[in-house]
Amino acid sequence: MSVLSSKLAVVPPIDQNMRVRRGARSGVMMAIAVDRTLAGRALGGCRMWHYQTAGDGIRDVERLARAMSFKAAAARLPVGGAKAVIALEHGDQPSGRWREQILRDFAELVECFDGRYITAQDVGTSLEDMVFLSRFTDHVAGHPIGEGGSGDPSPYTAHGVEVGIRASVRAPLVGRHVVVVGLGHVGGELARRLHEAGARLTVTDADPAKRALAARLQATWVAPEEALAVQADVLAPCALGGILDHAAVRALQVPVVAGAANTQLADESIAEALRGRGILWAPDFIINAGGLIAVADELGGFDRERVERSIEGIADTLAQVYADAARNGTNTLIAAKQLARERLIEEA
Ligand code: NAD
Repeated sequence: MSVLSSKLAVVPPIDQNMRVRRGARSGVMMAIAVDRTLAGRALGGCRMWHYQTAGDGIRDVERLARAMSFKAAAARLPVGGAKAVIALEHGDQPSGRWREQILRDFAELVECFDGRYITAQDVGTSLEDMVFLSRFTDHVAGHPIGEGGSGDPSPYTAHGVEVGIRASVRAPLVGRHVVVVGLGHVGGELARRLHEAGARLTVTDADPAKRALAARLQATWVAPEEALAVQADVLAPCALGGILDHAAVRALQVPVVAGAANTQLADESIAEALRGRGILWAPDFIINAGGLIAVADELGGFDRERVERSIEGIADTLAQVYADAARNGTNTLIAAKQLARERLIEEA
C-alpha cells in the first residue's frame, strides 16, 4: 500500500450523521445527511424531488452528501459536505400552504443539527424557499442579493462551467462549436455566455418553450435524442444526471464533454469508456462548483470579487486533474477523486 492510500484508509467520513423523519405537518419524508464537517460546519443543498419510494430518496441523500464533501474539498472551501432530500411521491406538486408546511418541517430537521448542517437551494427548491426557511432557522445560505447574500447560485455555476470549458478546450472560444443540453437556470446562462464569447451553439431542451432562447442566441435547435451525436468541439450536459451511458459514449462526436449536470455518468465505468474513446471529460463535481463557491462565501460575509476569483480557479483545478490523469494513465474521474482526497487530507 502506498503512503497516500494508507492515509486515505483513515480519512473521512469524520462526522457521518444522518436524520430521517416524516414531517409532522406535511406527512412528507425528508432526510439530512452530514458527510463530514469542517470547522464544525457542513453545507449542502436541499433537493425536493420525486422518488419511486421514500427509501430511494434516503439512499440518494447519503451518496449526494459524500459528493458534496468531494466538491467542497476540491474547491478548497472551508466547509464540509452534506445534503438534504425532501422525497416527494409521484404526482406531488407542493405549493401554497402545503409547501410551507413541508418547509417548516424541514426547518425543524435542520435545527436538530445545531448549526452543523447549513442548507441551501438545490434542484426543486428556490430562492423564495430559502427566504421562507430563514424565518424558522438561521442555518440557511444563499440569501437574496438585496440582503447581502449571493442570490441564485445558477449564474455562478454557469460562470464556472464556462471557465471549465475554456480550460478543457485550451483555445479561444471564438468559432468553437458547443452543444448545450438543457437550457435551464445554468444551461441558459451558459449558452448566453458562450454566445457572447463568440462560440457557435447547438442546443436542446425537453421543454420546447426554450426554443425562444435558442433563437435569440442564433443557436441551432435539435431534438434531445439527437444532441449527443452532433459533431462539435464540446458537449455541455446541463440537464439531469445519468446522461452518459455506454451507448451515449459510443454515439459522441466531440473531443470534450464539460457541463454543469451533477452525476453525469450512469456509472463510474463510463469515465474509462470516455478515456478509451479519447474524449476529455471534465468531472462534474469540479466544473460545477461555482454555485457552491458563492453560497459558501456567504458564511464569511459575501464578497463578489473573491467569489469570481475563486471560480476562475476551477481552470487550475481542472488543469491539474487532466495533468494527473495523463501522467498516471488513469481517467479524469479517478484523478479528480484523488485530488479531492488529497485536499481532504490537507484540511484534516
Ligand atoms: P433546471 O431545472 O433549471 O434546468 C434543467 C433543464 O434541463 C430544464 O430546462 C429541463 O427542461 C431540461 N431537461 C430535463 N431533461 C432533459 C432532457 N432529457 N433533455 C434535454 N433537456 C432536459 O436546472 P439547473 O439549475 O439549470 O441545473 C442543471 C443541472 O446542473 C442539474 O443536473 C443540477 O443538478 C446541476 N447543477 C446545478 C447547479 C446550480 O447552481 N443550479 C449547481 C451545480 C450543479
